[in-house]
Amino acid sequence: MSNNPAPGLLFVVSAPSATGKTTVIEQLVQLVPGLKMSRSYTSRPRREGETDGVDYNFVSRDAFEAQIAAGGFLEWADVFGNYYGTSWHETEARLAAGEDLVLVIDVQGARQVRAARPETVAVFMLPPSFAVLEERLRKRSSEPEAAMARRLATARQEVSAVDAYDYVVVNDVLERCVGELAGIVMAERAKLARRRAAIQPIIDSF
Ligand code: ADP
Ligand code: 5GP
Repeated sequence: MSNNPAPGLLFVVSAPSATGKTTVIEQLVQLVPGLKMSRSYTSRPRREGETDGVDYNFVSRDAFEAQIAAGGFLEWADVFGNYYGTSWHETEARLAAGEDLVLVIDVQGARQVRAARPETVAVFMLPPSFAVLEERLRKRSSEPEAAMARRLATARQEVSAVDAYDYVVVNDVLERCVGELAGIVMAERAKLARRRAAIQPIIDSF
């Protein structure tokens, strides 16, 4: 018998900026054992309170472009003028080690991941309404008005991509949304194709 673990499940979660995806997914990975968040690469400047190698791997635009040229990204996108991407090698290595991984990425990146790995489970997170999204964005942000207007305009485009996803959750009450996402992870883990090898000894005992 092989000692290799079953490969992990790959989840992508997309949502318009300020929906609350970072807040929700940080709680989700605390709640669900064996579920880990992927760490993206970005060329955007580090914000106050962020740590290199924890929140993101912060790299220069040149270094990012060199990685694109070398085919180092499973997916990458230009979001609000900065590059963001997910390492092929790191993702494959973690999945091969049996980790279930969540990528919190924009809709362009999610499309690329689904094309490369069609078995990916894609979840779209919506705010309760456009007005609530705007409120959350203003509460969180110290950005100029024009930058916020750009995020809201992008949000309108992003929600039109919802039909390409497998699941949708609404981040109204935080705990409820986290619970629903945990339910999605559990349901995916319990699919017969996923459990087939693990249950064989039970079947054989009959
Ligand atoms: P994103 O990662 O989607 O850009 P954040 O996780 O940074 O969003 O959340 C944006 C703002 O909304 C933050 O101030 C956060 O505290 C707040 N927030 C997140 N989820 C909820 C919720 N369910 N109810 C109220 N406020 C929320
Ligand atoms: P922020 O700069 O606010 O951290 O993130 C801005 C946007 O970039 C968010 O929509 C976030 O989901 C997206 N993002 C973060 N990491 C990645 C990534 O690796 N790939 C892609 N395509 N988008 C990402």
